[in-house]
Amino acid sequence: MSRLPLICANWKMNYTASEATRFAEIFLSEMAAARNALDAQVEVAIAPPHPVLDRLGGALAGSGIQLAAQNLHADESGAFTGEVSLAMLIDLGCRYALIGHSERRQLFGEGNSDVAAKALRLQGSALRPILCVGETLDERERDTTLQVVGTQILEVLDVADGLSDELVVAYEPTWAIGTGRTATPDMAQEVHAAIRKVLSDRLGEAGGGRIRILYGGSVKPSNAGDLLSQPDVDGALVGGASLDPEAFARIALACLEMS
Ligand code: PEP
Repeated sequence: MSRLPLICANWKMNYTASEATRFAEIFLSEMAAARNALDAQVEVAIAPPHPVLDRLGGALAGSGIQLAAQNLHADESGAFTGEVSLAMLIDLGCRYALIGHSERRQLFGEGNSDVAAKALRLQGSALRPILCVGETLDERERDTTLQVVGTQILEVLDVADGLSDELVVAYEPTWAIGTGRTATPDMAQEVHAAIRKVLSDRLGEAGGGRIRILYGGSVKPSNAGDLLSQPDVDGALVGGASLDPEAFARIALACLEMS
């Protein structure tokens, strides 16, 4: 089953619009030689803070690099001060939206039902969900990783039951996010294969086989190749290293070499 790899940057709460424009100039020049191959063989996306989407979109226009949102509200519109809707993100040209990132779960109290409501909002729209799942260190040590991750996925699919291959799953063990600790390629593959089985059991062999499963957690140029060479690792969600345009380009190019 061939799946188009996806490398997605998550800038979190970093970079102003001016800084993002400068990033785009450097990143696009680093990627210039690979641009044609990139379009066909690897998809690249950047999730900047919401106020930066418009200017970054302008700076990336015509490059084939996609815009992604870091979050959205589950309701269509209304009295939700400070929130951002699906229609707003589509209007700005976004292609993907992260949902259920561990920082949203841990710092903003989002549970599986909140994430499922967001997935339902995205279902059938022009914006594809990147559903982030992953265990804490305590859950890994208690050997409950597969159970935790399976529940995070199934509670979303129970509600957003029309999602199919527009869904992207990002496996991000929380103990590896922003810590410099990375799952070994074998550890990542073990969980990715289990996620694929959960998806295939629910959506059928072909459906589960089409869904891309990204790895996230301290991915950097030095470990990207080994992680991306695993059969069920279909790309990466990159936090810290994506703030450096040269490092992010090296990760995208490592993915291109694998494909
Ligand atoms: C993330 O927050 O999605 C992430 C993967 O961060 P980092 O690469 O910094 O671990």
